[in-house]
This record gives sequence, structure tokens and C-alpha cells, in this order.
Amino acid sequence: MTARNISGKEISAQIYEELRGRIAAFKQRHGRAPHITVVIVGEDPSSQTYVRLKHDKAQDLGIGSTVLRLPADTTEEALLGVVDGLNRDPAVNGLLVQLPLPDHIDEARVLLSVDPAKDVDGFHPMNVGRMVMGDPGVLLPCTPHGVLQLLLRSGVTIEGAHVVIVGRSNIVGKPLANLLIQKREGGNATVTVCHTRTRDLGAITRTADILVAAAGSVNMVTADMVKPGAVVVDVGTNRVPDPSSPRGSRQVGDVDFERVREVASAITPSPGGVGPMTVAMLMWNTVEAAWNQLGR
Ligand code: NDP
Repeated sequence: MTARNISGKEISAQIYEELRGRIAAFKQRHGRAPHITVVIVGEDPSSQTYVRLKHDKAQDLGIGSTVLRLPADTTEEALLGVVDGLNRDPAVNGLLVQLPLPDHIDEARVLLSVDPAKDVDGFHPMNVGRMVMGDPGVLLPCTPHGVLQLLLRSGVTIEGAHVVIVGRSNIVGKPLANLLIQKREGGNATVTVCHTRTRDLGAITRTADILVAAAGSVNMVTADMVKPGAVVVDVGTNRVPDPSSPRGSRQVGDVDFERVREVASAITPSPGGVGPMTVAMLMWNTVEAAWNQLGR
């Protein structure tokens, strides 16, 4: 069997088409576009790339976008002051502080300072709490929500499925597990979350109807770890050396794609799977936040 490809590029394109309509309606109702401001501290090259991607996509959709670049030696107090100003600015609907922050800044304190109504990353503890409680109106974290949309829109049955997630981070594994056990559409799965202390990982992954790899480890999921016919979602983004690429490296996921696709029934590639969905769900949240703030 060769697995069906679940394309994040195609599914995110569908979402952008829907968003264009919602943005046009917002402009008509409120006389301006939704606006996102991204704050980036320092020069981390991956973060710079992610911020550029978000800015370009917002502009392409007609969402207002501002990137505030602060030097790496910005103090925590100064950053909190910037966030406070943006929280108070009614022209800003979505506010995102790009992670990771430099070591001298307490990330948790900064995330807590973002107005939950503008928290388009969905990382504020209030939004996390509302998500856990199943509040349907909350801004969801982008990557887990992107995975959910990939599954829903490609017709994968989630209800009743055994989903195994490898990875328990606050931004992927934990929130995804939570969304999948909600008692509503897109939920009702039985979820097992694995991590580095899990005994006999393969024995558990082989029981998965849907296997999600979110570990950040190249070839962590091999073909023998996948039940024939399972759906495999690869969240991982890792860089491996590649002398034939102009950058000298290329992106791969956590899954041994070529071999696993011979066992699985459907699979997301990396790149081109979850990555594009994460950006799409950020745009979704920006539009949602703007409607919430200015009224429907
Ligand atoms: P973290 O490093 O925060 O968490 C990784 C998790 O995977 C941890 O829980 C860790 O276990 C577990 N893990 C790592 N290696 C193994 C292993 N060999 N066996 C079992 N468990 C393992 O990573 P993130 O959650 O932030 O990201 C995970 C991956 O997803 C990364 O490649 C990242 O780049 C990518 N990512 C992609 C996004 C996208 O938009 N496409 C967005 C966000 C992340 P333990 O807790 O025990 O250490």
C-alpha cells in the first residue's frame, strides 16, 4: 500500500479562500482590515524566517501586519512595556511574541502579559484553560489546531480512533491531546501521549489508528512502528545536511517518510504538511480575534 498524501499546502489554501471571504466581510462591517503585530527579540535565524512567513501571508490576505524588531539585549521590563502598549492599542487585534526569547527574559511572564483576547498563538494560560474546559469560542494554539483541521478536512475518522502522540510539549503534544479528547466534532478520540520515558515506544505506536510524531527527532518513527493502514501526521521539522541544497541543509520530519508511506493509509509530508497549517491557523485566529473585539 502507498499512503495517500495529506497536503498541508492544499488544505491551507482552502482555509485561505474561506478567510478571504471573512476578511472582506470584516472590512465591509468595520471599515478596516484585521491587524496582527508580531514582536521579535534578537536575531535567531529560524525565528526571523517564521516571522517573515507570517508577515508575507498576512499581507497576501489583506490582513494588516506589523513586525516590531527589538534588539537581543532588550530587557524583560522593556519588552513587557511594549506588550502593554500593544495590548492597549485598539488598532492591534492579534499580538504574538515570537519564541524563543533570549535567556535573560522569562518567557512565561511575557506570555502571561499578552491580552488573552489578542493572544493569536493561543499560549496564554487563560486561553489554555478555556481550551481544556472545551470552550468553543477560545483562540486555539495554531499547530495542534492545524493538525486537527488536516485530519478533519481530509476525511480521517477521529471519533473512536486511538491516537498516539509522540511528544508532550506545551505547544504541540499536550494541547493536541486535549483537543482530540473533547466531547465534540474533531474530538472523541482515545489518546495516548508518549515521551522519552515511555517504555517500548514501538509497542504503543503500533496500536495507533492515527500516529502523530511531534518529537523533533529525525527518523524517530520507522515503518515497523506503524500499524498497517494507520494515518501518520508528521509535525517534526528538523534540518539535515544536504550539500546539493543552496543552504547546505534541508528540512525533514520525524518520520521515515519513504518507508512509512508503504505501510500507512495516509501521511502528511514534512515540509508541506503541518507547517503551512500552523501559519494558516494563525491567520484564522487573527481574523477571529478581530471579529471578537469589534463585534459581528
Ligand atoms: P519539544 O522539544 O518541546 O518536545 C519534544 C517532545 O518529544 C518532548 O516531549 C520529548 O520528550 C519528546 N521526544 C523527543 N524525542 C523523543 C523520542 N526519541 N522518543 C519519545 N519521545 C521523544 O518540541 P516541540 O513540541 O516544540 O516540537 C516538536 C517538533 O515539532 C519539532 O521538530 C519542532 O520543530 C516541530 N514543530 C513544528 C511546528 C510546525 O509548524 N510544523 C510547530 C511547532 C513545532 P520529553 O518530554 O520526555 O523530553
